[in-house]
Amino acid sequence: MNYKDLADMIFPNAKEISYYEAKYPERNLKEGAVVSRFAPSPTGFVHIGGLYQALVAREMAKKTEGVFFLRVEDTDQKREVENGVTGIVNSLKDFDMLPDEGMITDNEEIGNYGPYKQSLRKDIYEAYAKYLLEQGKAYPCFCTQEEGEEIRKKQESAKIRPGYYGVWAKCRNLTVEEAAEKIKNGEKYIIRFKSPGREDKKIKHHDVIKGNVDFPENDQDIVIIKADGLPTYHFAHAVDDHLMRTTLVIRSDEWLSSVPLHLQLFHELGFKAPKYAHIAPIMKNDNGNKRKLSKRKDPEAAVNYYKEEGIPVNAVKEYLLNIANSNFENWRIANPDKSINEFDFQLNKMSVSGALFDMVKLLDIGKTVISKMTAEEVYQNSLKWAKEYDKELEEMLNDKEFSLKVLGIERGNKKPRKDISKWSDVKNSIIYMYDNKFKPESYEYAKINNKEEVKKILELYLAEYFDIDDDKDTWFNKIKDLAEKVGYAREVKEYKANPENYPGHVGDISTVIRVSLTGRQNTPDMYEIMQVIGKESVQKRLEKAIR
Ligand code: GLU
Repeated sequence: MNYKDLADMIFPNAKEISYYEAKYPERNLKEGAVVSRFAPSPTGFVHIGGLYQALVAREMAKKTEGVFFLRVEDTDQKREVENGVTGIVNSLKDFDMLPDEGMITDNEEIGNYGPYKQSLRKDIYEAYAKYLLEQGKAYPCFCTQEEGEEIRKKQESAKIRPGYYGVWAKCRNLTVEEAAEKIKNGEKYIIRFKSPGREDKKIKHHDVIKGNVDFPENDQDIVIIKADGLPTYHFAHAVDDHLMRTTLVIRSDEWLSSVPLHLQLFHELGFKAPKYAHIAPIMKNDNGNKRKLSKRKDPEAAVNYYKEEGIPVNAVKEYLLNIANSNFENWRIANPDKSINEFDFQLNKMSVSGALFDMVKLLDIGKTVISKMTAEEVYQNSLKWAKEYDKELEEMLNDKEFSLKVLGIERGNKKPRKDISKWSDVKNSIIYMYDNKFKPESYEYAKINNKEEVKKILELYLAEYFDIDDDKDTWFNKIKDLAEKVGYAREVKEYKANPENYPGHVGDISTVIRVSLTGRQNTPDMYEIMQVIGKESVQKRLEKAIR
């Protein structure tokens, strides 16, 4: 009996690997094109760090006219949740980052290199495991969990490296006859890789982000096929990224220390290894301590958070590019109006240690992104968000003609309004414009807050100065006239020069009108507000304040 007989006994139906090699040929892409992927596990939660990796992977494929694909890594079926794939696909869709290839719904996919869901690739992993078995590069291991525990305890008490390697790898030295005998007797087994490595030797690796790193060789006989017949992450990574012809593996740096094992697997399988780019996690400043954004502690760790808050997709993407590439910020200053798609992303400009997540900065980008949108774009985005998260806002927006005017205030000019950073801000920033929503319980006046004084100013304004047909200059001159009439300075300048001569200035008069009209001390341009709500509404609102 030889290795081949044992391999046949274990995987009698597996195909020859040449079948898969021919089925998934080298891709016909132009020189330098990057094939990258996003390979999440469907655990019901897309982490912002995952989206960050996907964005980087996609940028690299896009800029080189390569391919970006989505592979679902569902071999750990204990961790899986229902609709996990849908969640991943929807998150990518929300961010306008659907892949060129791979899963596009829970059970549909596009592309010629599939299946793109690992649980559907069992026959492929078996073929490659069989291939290793045939060469004596893998073996069945019959150690039970208890035996594994025992080994671990012994290693621990002797203070030596844990794991299944060297003298500890009991089943490594079974003869094929012994192994075959155990299988015939119905003993349970898993398949392990027979590592040719030595711990006292070093390997050199060049990581596209981390640079040159040295590691000891791998000498662990890791599991490649588990008791449930599915592969481990390591084995699936080698087989899949080879067959899907990935050229650049972009993934979290928690995998950096597995590189020696992965390079060894690629080598023993006879595959050309891809390049690796290991991304540092996104960090958070927690009272002066830098730590990873945590799924448990930080709501902003979940990609869904951004959708629920209504932070514009392009703001999130721009922010992620900002923390990904140190030169993004200068590029943005030089090109304030360009789309982020025009930015030339450079992997070697990524920070080696974790970038710090800054919500204030993200929301600031949100403000800028929204300030550059047309009223129609703000309207459509707000409506889409409101339909899912805010019925009251949706109802307000149902009056499209009016809403477009409201959202159009101070927009489309050189210095557009910048008071909205996310769609969930919209309601509060416009609600007073809607007559049926404007119900101030009290008015918070500023400098002029004496009831009689306020009343006098408003009455005079309505009786003698207010005319909805005035152009902006005339309108403002009339407020100045009113200021003068009640003894206030026409110009702020005049007031500042001789403050003892006046009780206040035109700005204080405006504030009285503004608060009465909107219930707020700060609003966008008051002239535009009056134009949008119209003559009757202005009159009614001011009369109400007088009462
Ligand atoms: N499923 C692995 C993870 O979620 C993928 C790592 C990789 O990109 O290779 O960590």
